Amino acid sequence: MSLKTRNALVTGSTSGIGLALARALAAEGANVTINGFGAPDAIETERAGIEKDFGVKCRYSAADMSKPADIAAMVSEAEAAFGSLDILVNNAGIQFVAPIEEFPIEKWDQIIAINLSSAFHAIRAATPGMKARKWGRIINTASAHSLVASPFKSAYVSAKHGIAGLTKTVALELATFGVTANCISPGYVWTPLVEKQIPDTMKARNMTKEQVINDVLLTAQPTKQFVTSEQVAAFAVFLCSDSASQMTGSNYSMDGGWTAA
Ligand code: NAD
Repeated sequence: MSLKTRNALVTGSTSGIGLALARALAAEGANVTINGFGAPDAIETERAGIEKDFGVKCRYSAADMSKPADIAAMVSEAEAAFGSLDILVNNAGIQFVAPIEEFPIEKWDQIIAINLSSAFHAIRAATPGMKARKWGRIINTASAHSLVASPFKSAYVSAKHGIAGLTKTVALELATFGVTANCISPGYVWTPLVEKQIPDTMKARNMTKEQVINDVLLTAQPTKQFVTSEQVAAFAVFLCSDSASQMTGSNYSMDGGWTAA
């Protein structure tokens, strides 16, 4: 399969799953706009690496996914730079772990903005072009937490359940325009997002690091293994293919059996 004629935007792609998604789309020939935070040198190395490794064009947007105006500008600039925006991957996300009664209000607002509202703003801005060109792929990185909950993750679980609903709504609205919208819902993937929540989970559950990894994270996954970013990215590439043109409005689990239980 080739995505040589396609132009993609992956939010939150300076790290973890997003970076793997951007690289996998580029490996199939798509030009890619990457986005996210990080040290400018490291981001430039990533951006230039994608161009060099895959012979595509890669640009970087510093848009902050908590800011609606930044998101709208990022989408229109991506469209203008490459001539179209065909593949939108809403992937940026953050986590915060705390009991509900102590959950900081600003963390709730930030997680809802970055993990849920940013996808609304990006889809809203990308839709007119996709409809006009009669082709598009919208892929939202949801989570097993779009289907089931875990304690101490009130904002994250709420945002991820929300993105599953947004995906279904958008899929229905765009069904006759050649545009699909789906969620990929990974279980635990070993990325900085997971690594960073370990100290707070240790505190909230009074556990050691090893206990958190084995008794909280991997306990949820019957396979007892982490999902890899590359596995998520490979499935996203498939969703961009013509073979997946009738797959829309769905939430695809990739969670080692977590949500089967
Ligand atoms: P990560 O921390 O490695 O990457 C997150 C990315 O989002 C980074 O590029 C970061 O710079 C970017 N980002 C954060 N805030 C931003 C903002 N305000 N504006 C722009 N970019 C911003 O995390 P990850 O694990 O790769 O997570 C990616 C997505 O996958 C998230 O939506 C997360 O909820 C989801 N997810 C992760 C796991 C997991 O176990 N790691 C499981 C299920 C779902």
